[in-house]
Amino acid sequence: MRYFNSKEIWLNQLVDTINSPYELLSLLKLDSNVKLVNSIKTKVSFSFRVPKIFVERMKLNDPNDPLLMQVLINSKESRIFNKLAKNISFEKHAIKFNLIHKYNNRVLILLNNSCAIHCRYCFRRDYLNNISNIKNNMNHIINYILSNKEINEVILSGGDPLIMQDKNIKTLILMLEKINHILILRIHTRLPIIIPSRITDNLCNILINSRFRIILVTHINHANEINSNVINSMNKLRQANVILLNQSVLLRNINNNANVLANLSIKLIQSGIIPYYIHLLDKINSNIHFLVTKVQANRIMKDLSNKVSGYLLPKLMYNK
Ligand code: SF4
Repeated sequence: MRYFNSKEIWLNQLVDTINSPYELLSLLKLDSNVKLVNSIKTKVSFSFRVPKIFVERMKLNDPNDPLLMQVLINSKESRIFNKLAKNISFEKHAIKFNLIHKYNNRVLILLNNSCAIHCRYCFRRDYLNNISNIKNNMNHIINYILSNKEINEVILSGGDPLIMQDKNIKTLILMLEKINHILILRIHTRLPIIIPSRITDNLCNILINSRFRIILVTHINHANEINSNVINSMNKLRQANVILLNQSVLLRNINNNANVLANLSIKLIQSGIIPYYIHLLDKINSNIHFLVTKVQANRIMKDLSNKVSGYLLPKLMYNK
């Protein structure tokens, strides 16, 4: 394990990972569970990666733990459904240029190909490694935004944009701030949930001193992901004038239940985060076992609307 200086706790936690499902099962006292052990024997291309700090939120002796199920390799990942291939063609094109411009007012920049955790349901998992090095396309991206004055918002995505170190984030923000028509910077990230210490004082200083209105969109699927460290980090961000929204993915056997989602919405708002979107799964061959159908999703959302106030009801999103 590589150690960084004590000020960079998050970097140490980022490299302190479990890279074997067997090791994880053993830590959770699940090594005697034959079914699970058998199910992970299939070879899959997306590697196994879970930071230990996230594992601490998983329950011992529980093969159905909702955090475990998001990261555990499953033999169903190797199934092939040919007609699914075209679903992500638009993003596949974008990985070459690190840029997606779908809506007039905003662009999304794919900054990198690394994540703190490997979520088995991730629709980008098959081509994360193919995302181009942003350094090769940055000039093109800046020139593109400069020449499209209707763009007032930039969305940072990846991989995970917060895997960049603070000094690089600062350089990027300073570069974007020179474009007068950009007013809003949105950051899509799961990292502060997995490793809450990522929200450093230095990062908060960078964000509070930016001229942008900054919106950070977290990715939380289940209330158990939120512990006191996550709440503290969210408080720091709010003190830095950052608006916090959350997006979730609707996942079979993890959160496809109105009670589970109501609990999540309450926990989010207690943490100062507004439930924003809940996405139907973007289907790829390796994630179909997580699928919740549109009909089921609509039913769940109707149930949820009877359990929470309107401002706690995320909007259901799906690719048309
Ligand atoms: S953090 Fe986001 S991009 Fe990375 S594997 Fe998970 S869902 Fe995919």
